[in-house]
Amino acid sequence: RTSQLALRQTPRILSIAGTDPTGGAGVQADLKSIAANGGYGMAVMTALVAQNTRGVRSVHTPPVAFLREQLHAVSDDVTIDAVKIGMLAQLDVITEVRSWLSECRPPLVVLDPVMVATSGDRLLEPSAEQALRDLIPQVDLVTPNVFELAVLLGEHPAATWAKVLEQGKRLSASTGVTVLVKGGHLNEANCPDALVNTQGLLARSVVEVALPRISTSNTHGTGCSLSSAMATVQARTGDWAQSLVEVKDWLQDALAHADDLEVGQGNGPIHH
Ligand code: PLP
Repeated sequence: RTSQLALRQTPRILSIAGTDPTGGAGVQADLKSIAANGGYGMAVMTALVAQNTRGVRSVHTPPVAFLREQLHAVSDDVTIDAVKIGMLAQLDVITEVRSWLSECRPPLVVLDPVMVATSGDRLLEPSAEQALRDLIPQVDLVTPNVFELAVLLGEHPAATWAKVLEQGKRLSASTGVTVLVKGGHLNEANCPDALVNTQGLLARSVVEVALPRISTSNTHGTGCSLSSAMATVQARTGDWAQSLVEVKDWLQDALAHADDLEVGQGNGPIHH
């Protein structure tokens, strides 16, 4: 489906995700990230999350009929160049998004398989994990962190980058989908991320970009921001490897300036 992508200077990007009223993660982070990377941002809320930089207080999931209304309100009117999917909260939400995807077929879909926040709070019901696994073959890029990668494979989280890469290759092989493997949660001096594709759609089967780790605890919403940036830059350039290089460069800057923001007392946001 990626080959049908019509490149646009300002691609129209739809985020389908949960919210963060403090503006650091979820839909709010996606919109900032899309704008910062040259896209026009749109958003459909799967779940309303009462959270701040210290943690999640509660989650409200509107009826799926209303989710469907939001999705069709956008797609009945706007040509969507790319979709980023984030927090899906529960099984019936996944089913609804999947059914919309099969009807509306945007040319590019990036899935961030959100499961648990850094604070330890669950953002996906355990009973929905299999449905999330089953959604992967429907998308163009999946962006798991080391913990999500392990859950998707039914394995233990890997402790080294080499092992994470192996797991990424296994997920790509079993789903046929390109995997953006992320090393940010490892305890290494560098922050490596790699695009892994076992089907040979990339020029190389692994494209890796490692940058020095920025020393900050203000990393709230980094995963959300990264996945929506990838959707945006890919819709502009049509080149996954170039997108990763460009996005990593932007993210490095956003992390480097995170401490300037002084937002909240917990894990604060990055500087979009
Ligand atoms: N809140 C929402 C709505 C999210 O989608 C996510 C992650 O994807 C988070 C919070 C987690 O943010 P973090 O783990 O970066 O604190």
